[in-house]
Amino acid sequence: MAKTNYKEITSYNSPNYTPNAYVPSVYGTSREVIGVVYHWWGDPWSHPLFFNIIRWLCRPNGNSSAHVVGELNRIAWIVDAIHAAWHAGSAYGNAKFVGYECNPRLDSGDYQTMGEFHYDMEKYYGKRLQIRVHKEFSSTSCSPIDKGRIRRIADSLHARDKRPKPKPRPSKPVPLAAKLPKPIRFRTKLAATRVWDLTTNPKYVAVKTLGRHKEFMAYAKIEFNNSVYYVTRYSYNKKLKHGVNSADLERYEQAPPTPEWIRNLKWDKSIGKLSVLPAGGTKVLNLTTTAPVNDEVIPKGTQIDIEGRTTVGGQMYYVSSWARKEGLPWGIPAKTLGKPAVVPPREKPEWLENLQDITDKDFWTRSDAPILSVEDGSTVRIEPINSLVRVTHATEILGKKYMVLQGMTEVVGTIYLSDTPIERPHDDLEKRVKFIEAFITSLVDIFAKAIAQIKDKWEKKP
Ligand SMILES: [Zn+2]
Repeated sequence: MAKTNYKEITSYNSPNYTPNAYVPSVYGTSREVIGVVYHWWGDPWSHPLFFNIIRWLCRPNGNSSAHVVGELNRIAWIVDAIHAAWHAGSAYGNAKFVGYECNPRLDSGDYQTMGEFHYDMEKYYGKRLQIRVHKEFSSTSCSPIDKGRIRRIADSLHARDKRPKPKPRPSKPVPLAAKLPKPIRFRTKLAATRVWDLTTNPKYVAVKTLGRHKEFMAYAKIEFNNSVYYVTRYSYNKKLKHGVNSADLERYEQAPPTPEWIRNLKWDKSIGKLSVLPAGGTKVLNLTTTAPVNDEVIPKGTQIDIEGRTTVGGQMYYVSSWARKEGLPWGIPAKTLGKPAVVPPREKPEWLENLQDITDKDFWTRSDAPILSVEDGSTVRIEPINSLVRVTHATEILGKKYMVLQGMTEVVGTIYLSDTPIERPHDDLEKRVKFIEAFITSLVDIFAKAIAQIKDKWEKKP
């Protein structure tokens, strides 16, 4: 027949504790249970309730806890005794004791359960455990619990003890690792990050020690004793219950490789404005994927300020000033852009190209002379022999010399002109032609310098 009557509740877990493995570094002493600190959970006149206290001590990111919450005939284990709960307000108290929060009404039933609990703990640990109250460790009114009364109950149970085995606290089986939806990349935080064999609970044994900032790919996890342990693919596949406490790991994302377009990117403001060339327009592409950013077509002729160029997969792309400013990975295939199609300046006609300023001079036609349009060389009219024409320039079109008439819209072949009135209009034409050609040649020589200057001026015009 069991000597103790209280019921144990294990379905509540507090995250507020120092794991066994950290107790030495946090508290300067190892976790070794030498007693129980009995507390009362607040003001008895406010009638605080058992489950409210449990929930409070199990709150996330709390700064206080206990191992056990108890009252008449029931206790809840919320932190495994192998870890240090935060109840004593003292490093030594937390490291070396189990914390028990009792209903502050402290009636005989509550004392009975505390006595039975203490008896069970002493049986479990196989030794006498100290009975202490909170105010022995830090300044608090917790608690006016009668330590002698607990001792008397426990000792009376020991005295009647005929059972060979203490009632062991139920130990939770270590579950198998559960595969993560996808592996998580961690790195170790501690200089000595341990991979624990969880089956060695409560005295964890490390199967491996990892250095600081070592990559750890978590493939599965084991949730156990209020902790999450991450498990490698190897351990998972071998069904080994080996894991690293999540508190010892930090998420670690490797920098992604620099995309090709960024590696090849060259900013070059001198590229300037370029126009969309294809009749079908062009599209803006995401340079990371070279897929179009959207369905929008930039129409032919659109001018785009280009500030950079890059290559992806051997193809060249331009990056606009806008994309650069917006920080977007966008580009336009270089083959679809080119120098903007400006309206070509009206081509200088050949006659104008070869224009030689000979200043105004009067000539006379030596025969019926066809007057030609400078635009297309068509005959505008025929001047009869001995007509006076005022010449302002000389020029050469397709190897033939012409005189440009005043107004610069008409020309006449030099062959038809005489620098003097024709006295005998019916004289031999051949003779006069020779004369006029000689004249033109000398005229050109005379004005060579001026002509050169004028040509120079023309060339400098846009
Ligand atoms: Zn207390």
